[in-house]
Amino acid sequence: MRLEILKEDVWQCNHCSMCSEMVCDQAGFYKVCPVYQLMEFENYTARGHNTIALYLLEGSLNYNRELAEVIFKCTTCKLCEEVCKPMGNAVAGLGGYGLKSIMDAVIKPMQIEMKPIPSVAIMEAMRTDCVEQGLEPDGLKELAARVTASGNIYGKPAADRLQWAAGLNLASQAPTILFAGDTAAYEAPEVAQAAARVLQRIGISFSLLSDERASGAVLFRTGNIVLGEKMARHNLDLLKSALEVICLSAGDYYSLSTDWPKFAGSMPFKVNHISMVLADAIKDKRLRFSKNVPVNATYEDPCYLGRGMNQYADPRIVLKAIPGLTLTEMYPTAHGAWCCGNCGGIPDSDPELSIKLGVRKLSLIEATRASLVATSCPEVKVHLKKVFAHARKTVEVKDIVELAAQAIGE
Ligand code: SF4
Ligand code: SF4
Repeated sequence: MRLEILKEDVWQCNHCSMCSEMVCDQAGFYKVCPVYQLMEFENYTARGHNTIALYLLEGSLNYNRELAEVIFKCTTCKLCEEVCKPMGNAVAGLGGYGLKSIMDAVIKPMQIEMKPIPSVAIMEAMRTDCVEQGLEPDGLKELAARVTASGNIYGKPAADRLQWAAGLNLASQAPTILFAGDTAAYEAPEVAQAAARVLQRIGISFSLLSDERASGAVLFRTGNIVLGEKMARHNLDLLKSALEVICLSAGDYYSLSTDWPKFAGSMPFKVNHISMVLADAIKDKRLRFSKNVPVNATYEDPCYLGRGMNQYADPRIVLKAIPGLTLTEMYPTAHGAWCCGNCGGIPDSDPELSIKLGVRKLSLIEATRASLVATSCPEVKVHLKKVFAHARKTVEVKDIVELAAQAIGE
C-alpha cells in the first residue's frame, strides 16, 4: 500500500478541524475546503481524508468503490494545507495575501516547526492505491486511454500538436524550450502564440519539442503515476540538451518541478513558468509595454502556481506593469484563493462538480466588478470560459501573456 510511505504524516493530524471551518473578519464563519462547501459532509475535508487514511492504515477500512468516490472528489488545491495548524485564522484574517512572507520573516528565524500535514500527498497516495486496484472513476480511465493512445489529455492527433506555431519564425534548436503543454497546444493556441511573440520581443531565442507529450501532471494528481512517469520520461529524453524549460501551464510547471524529480532526480535544466520570465524581463527593462489596455481586471491564482509553487508576485508584476489596466483583487486571494474547480482531475472524474466549483468562484469574481479575469494558466482559462458559458456570464478571460502581447502591440 503506497499510503504506508506517509503513515507518520497521517498520524500527525490531530483532527483539529482548522482545515474544515474557520472564522475571519470579512467572511465570518466559513467552510475552507471548496468541495466541503458544496458536499457538506466531513468526509470531503482534509480532516476526513486523513481519518480515512488512518483507518486504512490500521486495517479497519479497505479500499472499495464507495471509498474511491470520496477519495477522487478532492481538487488537490492545497488550501487545507495552507490553513493547517500553524497558519489557521491568520490566513483568512489577512485576506490570504502576504501571510507566508510574514511567517517566513518572523517565525522561521525562530526555528519553530511550521510544517502543515501534507494532506494532498496523503490523498494522492490513496489515489495511487485505488488506481492499482482499478477503483478510479470511469472518467479517469477514459483520460488514461486518451493519453495512452495520443500522448495528450484531449486525445487529439499528435501530428496536430505544433499547428499553433505555424508561421512563427522559431529557432530549430535553442537551449531554451517553450513547453506549451496540451491545453495551449490544442485548446488555447492563442496563449501559446502570445507567449511566443512576447518571448521574441524580449529577445529570448527558444525552440519547441518536435514530439512534446503530456507532462503527466493530471495523471500524477489522480494517482496514475505509472502513465505519468511514462509521459515524463518521453519528454525528458527530448530535453537532454536543454538548459531551460519555460512552461505555460501552472500544472506542468508544478509537475516538472516536483513530480519529475521524484523518479528522475534533479532536473538537468532550469524550470520556469512564463510569468517568472516576463516579470524578470520587466524588472530589468528588457520588456516594456507601450500600448494602453484599459480594463478593470481581477487575477485568478492557479492553485499549482500559487500554493503549489509559491508564485504569487510575478503574475501581478506583469499585470501592474500594463498601462491602463486596473487590478482589483478578489477576497480571499493568493494564499487563501478558492480553487476554480479545474484541479485534481475533477473535470474528468466529476465534470458537474468541476463546473459547480467554478460557479462558486464566480461569486468572488463578480464581487470585484472586474470585466476581465486574468490568469496564468491556459487550463484555467479554458475551464473558466466553460463556467462562464454555463452561467451565461459575459466576463472575459485572458492569460497574462495575452495581455502582455496586447501591451507590446502584438
Ligand atoms: S489536516 Fe491539519 S488542520 Fe486539518 S485536522 Fe489535520 S491537523 Fe487539523
Ligand atoms: S486539497 Fe482542496 S479540495 Fe482537497 S481537501 Fe484540501 S481544501 Fe479540500
